[in-house]
Amino acid sequence: MSKGKVYLVGAGPGDIELITLKGFRLLGKADVIFYDHLSSAQLLEFAKPDAETISVGKFASKHTLPQGEINKRLVDKAKDGNVVVRLKGGDCYLFGRGGEEAEACLEADVEFEVVPGITSALAVPCYAGIPPTHRDCTSNIAIVTGHRKAGDTRPIDIPKAGTVVFLMSVGNIQNIVESLLREGWSKDALIAAVERGTCYDQRVVKGNLGNFIEVAEKAKLRKPAIFIVGKVVEMQEKLDWFGKKPNVLVLGNHPERYKHLGNIVHRRIIECAGADDFSQVDEVVERIADFDWIIFTSVNGAKNLFPRLAKKGLDARSLANVKIAAIGSTTAAKLSEYGIIPDMVAVTESSAGLLEEFAKIDVSGKKIFLPQAEVSSKELPDGLVAMGVEIEKTVVYKTVDIEPAPVDFDYIDAILFTSGSTVRAFLKHFKEVPAGIKVYGLGAPTLAVANEYGIDGEPMPKDPNA
Ligand code: SAH
Repeated sequence: MSKGKVYLVGAGPGDIELITLKGFRLLGKADVIFYDHLSSAQLLEFAKPDAETISVGKFASKHTLPQGEINKRLVDKAKDGNVVVRLKGGDCYLFGRGGEEAEACLEADVEFEVVPGITSALAVPCYAGIPPTHRDCTSNIAIVTGHRKAGDTRPIDIPKAGTVVFLMSVGNIQNIVESLLREGWSKDALIAAVERGTCYDQRVVKGNLGNFIEVAEKAKLRKPAIFIVGKVVEMQEKLDWFGKKPNVLVLGNHPERYKHLGNIVHRRIIECAGADDFSQVDEVVERIADFDWIIFTSVNGAKNLFPRLAKKGLDARSLANVKIAAIGSTTAAKLSEYGIIPDMVAVTESSAGLLEEFAKIDVSGKKIFLPQAEVSSKELPDGLVAMGVEIEKTVVYKTVDIEPAPVDFDYIDAILFTSGSTVRAFLKHFKEVPAGIKVYGLGAPTLAVANEYGIDGEPMPKDPNA
């Protein structure tokens, strides 16, 4: 049996891209992952498909496993020979009881390593537009827990610093304000609360020590939140780079491709699976070399067709005399994994884009194979038939709806639909596009589907830097 090991990994403060490269690599390697933080739950998408994932508590709720029990489970899983990743919000060791988990490993003679994470104490001010130190304001910062056991009213120790950041403080605002005033801070000193920092629904609530109790009460602060006290809060509006970007809900895959639109809120709503029945595909594969062209309109076409060839002992060489077209660069990249460099890649990534390319050559009388989805637009096959092509379509994959994580539409500025299937799945789950939210479609067929359902949209703006 291989020797197990525990990695305590800082997951970062919320924005899942703020995990470290090392943490990300270990996540993909772990046999067992323990998590308890919102962002951690989303990070599980990057785990091995057969990794065991164990929730040890719901963030900001009381359903949390006692620390002793967490320590025991970590150790037991490692002793069973597993690579264990314990994902922890922010940094592992800052108010996270990571130290205790490391001690438990040591006591049980289980090897462990710690991967630091980006702490909310620094990342959240950054995403809120507040540099914790600034030459014009202060050169030091203190990080303090505002948490007290219920009923403990003793003042909080306030270290001498130009900026004080409080974690775990929403339930203890009055004591925090009074402790600061007692320490000599002025009633005019600025304070900012930042809720759900680095997430799309981040909110900044500002006041001064004189009015903050009232301001916080009115704002009905949500958890998690941090408080930042000091002159640096003056910078907030000026440096609010994150809050100024629109939040765009992206349904579908490859959210990283749409970063130019704003802060991407990614929700997977459909998943692709192989066709229910491959017998027709297998029959086509028998005579695959007879086609003049094969057109791949998605990575899923490639992902589901090539294994059928492999089953018959065939590989890319069986397509030596067949020309290959891809709808765009992502599909082309997928094809390269199977040893294929496409003869044609549409410049405009859509059916219309492919038709434009085919219109430039003479395809009349040619035999074209189109591996496609169960539900797919007719634009491409109809367009090709009009060019005199003999087309053969076969279903190689289908889309399956999946339950998306909830979305707070109060914080969404726009929605990007990447395919007709995402429009249908969206409406099934969310019923309608709430008023005031802009709709983008990746291509004309997607917008046409949206239109069928009475949704007005516009083409996705292009990335000016692409
Ligand atoms: N180890 C963590 C802190 C754990 S204590 C870290 O390094 O960030 C939990 C506290 O962290 C919360 O009560 C809150 O004050 C703060 N926190 C964590 N994530 C946050 C977020 N996204 N926005 C605001 N505060 C957050």
